[in-house]
Amino acid sequence: MDKINNSSYLCRPVYSMVKVGELNTYKVELKNMREDSCLYEYTLDSQFFADIEAPDVRKGNLTVTLSVRKTGGAYALSFHTEGTVTVPCDRCLDDLELPVETDDRLIVKLGTDFAEEEDIITVPEEDGYINVGWYIYEFIMLSLPIKHVHAPGECNAAMTEILSRHLATETAEETDPSDEEEDTTGNGDIDPRWNDLRKILDNN
Ligand SMILES: [Zn+2]
Repeated sequence: MDKINNSSYLCRPVYSMVKVGELNTYKVELKNMREDSCLYEYTLDSQFFADIEAPDVRKGNLTVTLSVRKTGGAYALSFHTEGTVTVPCDRCLDDLELPVETDDRLIVKLGTDFAEEEDIITVPEEDGYINVGWYIYEFIMLSLPIKHVHAPGECNAAMTEILSRHLATETAEETDPSDEEEDTTGNGDIDPRWNDLRKILDNN
């Protein structure tokens, strides 16, 4: 909290009818901003990732500090995000808790239509707000390492054994190419993660 500038005001979402599940909490008023700078604080839990439909995050526990500053015709948004997320381990599928600490910036302008160019975002002036929920999610995901695996020797050994047996059986049963095609659509009974896992095991 020591990063907070004393001249900033702690602001609340302007929408009094905050509906859980619609991420309205993350709407940040720009056009009718009453001060030149504004501070928002969010606590993200597992519900945030469920609401944003991020199946790759099983749990989350983070805090976000957002500072909004009006500068001429634009708004500078600075995010500081810190906490942990839990994702499946790529190798054993067990929970893997990853630390998150990331600082990110967005420049937002008011215009006629919504547009995104590099880190400059234009939002319709008639709306006058930006919903930062999705951006916060992206910042978190971009801060994670590409490979999500436990440290060597810390994978769930029993699970790894079950998975390799399952994959061996599955490979042996792979006789009908039409079945295989169904599996890769992601709508079948086979969890798409099996396919990712198979790729990993095939490479070892
Ligand atoms: Zn693992």
